Amino acid sequence: MSCQRLQDQHEELQSAAVDPGSCLFYSRSGRRYGITLLGSRSAAASFLGAAAPEFTRSRSNAYRIDYCPWSGRLLPAHLEDERETVCEQELGIVRENYYDDWPRELTNKEMWWIERGIDRPAQPEEAPNSWVPGEYRVRFFDLFGFYPRGGLWRSKEAPPHLCDTMESAFADCRVMITYIPWTREYGIRQVDPYRTIDLQSVRMRRIAYCPWCETELPKSLKAEWLGRTAGDGFDRSDRHLPPKYLSDTWWKELGL
Ligand SMILES: [Zn+2]
Repeated sequence: MSCQRLQDQHEELQSAAVDPGSCLFYSRSGRRYGITLLGSRSAAASFLGAAAPEFTRSRSNAYRIDYCPWSGRLLPAHLEDERETVCEQELGIVRENYYDDWPRELTNKEMWWIERGIDRPAQPEEAPNSWVPGEYRVRFFDLFGFYPRGGLWRSKEAPPHLCDTMESAFADCRVMITYIPWTREYGIRQVDPYRTIDLQSVRMRRIAYCPWCETELPKSLKAEWLGRTAGDGFDRSDRHLPPKYLSDTWWKELGL
């Protein structure tokens, strides 16, 4: 069980997992990794009206990942079924009372499975097979009633690497993964958990590997983008940047 704890993972994964602003999710007791799924009060209000809940950042509401986004290594299998077995058979907690009787040793701690020597071979979950290769679309646009803004923003250009499960993640703009077409960068979002997500600009930790199929993602073009926009006399925050520098057009034209 040498590489199964959080402390055995890539340092960037460890850092993101303990960073309250990071949308990288790790449940220590269930050993599950994911990307946080966020809602937005203002977006929810458009169809729920006054009944819309306050914006919350639910740590348990995450889109699972199979590979470390920084090392490409297969992550350990989750132990949620094993945890249920321990609860019911060893600790005698019946399912209906999980939330009332949940023992402290199982609350966001890894030790319960280490001490018992519980493990399961790492294996990616079976991906649904409904995707048409090359298809890129973002669902939930209609649900929100507007093109996602701010924190719900999605690239209109298809990311160069797109597999079945990544397509599903991008299709749902609540999943806090992002792709920036002009710098060709993928990332897991950094957010202020106390502000409504669609009022926030996109900040992220850049990732190097697809979290669902371990493919190494294409190299970032940020340095080239900064160089070329500066060379053309623009500042990076210039409002009048030519449209080609706000899409993937410039690097595709150059064959990068
Ligand atoms: Zn992939």
